[in-house]
Amino acid sequence: MDFLQRLSLFLDRPLFPWKKLILGFSIGHYLFESFLTLRQYQVLQRTKPPAVLAKEISQETFDKSQAYGRAKARFEIASGLWAQIQNFAFVQLDVLPALWSLTGAWLLRWAPARFSGEISHSIVFVMAFIVIQQLLNLPTRIYNTFVLEERFGFNKQTPALFVTDMIKTNLLTAVIMPPILAGFLKIIQKTGNQFVFYLWVFAAGLQLFTTTAYPIFIQPIFNKLSPLDEGELKKKVEQLAASHKFPLQELFVIDGSKRSAHSNAYFYGLPWKKHIVIYDTLIEKTETSEIIAILAHELGHWKLGHTTRLFGIAQVHLLYVFSLFSVFINNASLYSAFGFHAQHPIVIGFILFSDALSPMDTVIKLLLNVLSRKFEFEADDFAKRLGFRSELAASLIKLHAQNLSTMDADWMYASYHFSHPHLSERLKALDWKPQQALTSEKDKDKEGVAKASGRDEL
Ligand SMILES: [Zn+2]
Repeated sequence: MDFLQRLSLFLDRPLFPWKKLILGFSIGHYLFESFLTLRQYQVLQRTKPPAVLAKEISQETFDKSQAYGRAKARFEIASGLWAQIQNFAFVQLDVLPALWSLTGAWLLRWAPARFSGEISHSIVFVMAFIVIQQLLNLPTRIYNTFVLEERFGFNKQTPALFVTDMIKTNLLTAVIMPPILAGFLKIIQKTGNQFVFYLWVFAAGLQLFTTTAYPIFIQPIFNKLSPLDEGELKKKVEQLAASHKFPLQELFVIDGSKRSAHSNAYFYGLPWKKHIVIYDTLIEKTETSEIIAILAHELGHWKLGHTTRLFGIAQVHLLYVFSLFSVFINNASLYSAFGFHAQHPIVIGFILFSDALSPMDTVIKLLLNVLSRKFEFEADDFAKRLGFRSELAASLIKLHAQNLSTMDADWMYASYHFSHPHLSERLKALDWKPQQALTSEKDKDKEGVAKASGRDEL
């Protein structure tokens, strides 16, 4: 008997208090994250910027960024508490089994008999589950967009766009989710104990397909991509790509300004055919040389194999998830603790299993962020070696100021949450010496700085 089988027998104990354990995980996780947020809150109350930024960031911008950070921290604690209350009620009131029998009854009543199997039932169940979750989370989403982001000048979404986005997303889910879920369940039904390998191949194929199909079929539903105009920027990007044999196929500008003034640039595509997408907001607010420095950083991620390595890690992670799922899929004590005594629907098993696995997710998140920060330093260093040191530093400072991104952080909070090193660390690594304030002519005639969503994804 192999290890996984032994583990699965070991974990299937009648009357094992799965409910208590999973609730305990969830509460523990919330307390842990809130503890980190409170630590970060102390840092967000400092009144002076870190020394390395003293000359670049005005007191006013710093104060605003601290206030924005504090508002987000309070929001995190409150929305986390709301999620805990929901989760607790779901578990205590046995919402999962109730919804499972309700959706089963709907199918019996409304659908032709051939749709009464587990697959159709699971699809209707998941759809209903998504709708319920969405309704419950609507207040927090509305608050985040129209109160919090709005207050700091980041929100560009109108209520109409918010609603149409939501409708579009749901329609899209209704089209995409059923075949994927059906494939997932069919594979498990057909291959029995061997499902791990087949599911893994299915998931990897799905990822490749999404990478290709997303920009062509899905992104245009939400945003407009247009080819970058001829000019200095285009010429310089092409030169940069050519000098590193980057397989650049097409250069696009995306209308990110439709939702938020958040600025960004990224690559996508298959290994031999890449596209570069630049946000209109980035072009509007940044000098050409700084955009090139940002793209040099991105190119570093590609050249240093970060993209490939992250794809590899994602595959190993999937294999780990599916292997452990095979341990839980027949765990009768887990199903019955949550009110599934006679039936053991696979999709329910997967939901419960994900909850049971959540403490491991915390550890994985921490490790992935450690790796991601290492990659960011390496990509910065790549751009620096290409001679973009001061342009990169300037663009980082500018974007952080515009985004009101957190400029300093508690080390514990940062280790766990940050996929990117914070600004002071990056400037230190770039050997940046505090200089005169970096305000270009381009910025001076703009009122206010807060024009982007608090993200930076360089
Ligand atoms: Zn990066």
